[in-house]
Amino acid sequence: LMSDKYAVVGNPIDHTKSPLIHLSFAKETGQNIDYAAIEAPIGGFSEVVDKFRREGGLGLNITAPFKLDAFAYCTDLKERARLAGAVNAMKFEVDRVTGENFDGVGLTNDITRNLGRLMKGRRVALLGAGGAARGVVLPFLEQGPTELVIVNRTVTKAEELGRQFKQYGPITAIGYSALADKKLGRFDLVVNATSASLRGELPPISPEVFGDDCLAYELLYGKGLTPFLRLARNAGVKRLADGVGMLVEQAAEAFVWWRGLRPDTGTTIKKLTVPLE
Ligand code: NDP
Repeated sequence: LMSDKYAVVGNPIDHTKSPLIHLSFAKETGQNIDYAAIEAPIGGFSEVVDKFRREGGLGLNITAPFKLDAFAYCTDLKERARLAGAVNAMKFEVDRVTGENFDGVGLTNDITRNLGRLMKGRRVALLGAGGAARGVVLPFLEQGPTELVIVNRTVTKAEELGRQFKQYGPITAIGYSALADKKLGRFDLVVNATSASLRGELPPISPEVFGDDCLAYELLYGKGLTPFLRLARNAGVKRLADGVGMLVEQAAEAFVWWRGLRPDTGTTIKKLTVPLE
């Protein structure tokens, strides 16, 4: 019996945890699936997807740097993908290719369910306005924060995001110097959605952004204490998290979309968690 075929596409792809996550979901829910990791050459995304579909593939997860290529490839877009301008999961049917984006809902599920933090009535700071941040803005606003402050090095990109989503909730878009100048006060949740940590860099924020009982969330995962998490810890922040929960939760959403069954995420998150101390 042939198994249903799924895969993750990225470049590089050697460190991906997606096959492990999906195969553990499949085992737990009794599903017979095949899940591969495919490295597409830069500029060669659509050829790789064409081939995967010809071979009977049913769905893909998409990681950096192909989320915009995936967006362009789809014939149908779910609202979250359309608004994010990026696709992180695809479903293939005979006559159509549907694109979804589960990054934002994965992050909010991790924050609200696994970490037990309400965003309703809280002040939230989102650092970064790149691919990951774009997918996070709407799911954050849907949680009902009193204010969402988007901070980005290239201020125009933050402002663009702010304009695009302003009808969905209270957004302020600024740069780092304005964050320091304007005395915007302390935040209940500070999310680092920049890629600074990948190069051991720190977005220029002061320890004063972290409020009492703040949660500091780093999207990068598996790297232990990043400069951002270290700053938060040194500022006295007790709740630190990295993006492993987000990764597993977005995978779970894709699994439900493809297979119609919801896997348990707790055991998989535990298996992949690298201690932050
Ligand atoms: P992008 O390249 O699309 O965006 C990068 C962002 O980081 C931009 O806003 C950029 O600002 C900012 N930035 C980069 N370096 C610095 C710096 N030194 N100081 C301040 N800002 C900086 O990246 P992605 O959005 O795709 O990814 C961001 C992070 O999220 C990565 O670490 C990635 O690993 C992680 N991620 C985690 C996921 C998970 O499931 N846990 C899912 C997706 C991403 P500017 O616009 O000015 O260039």
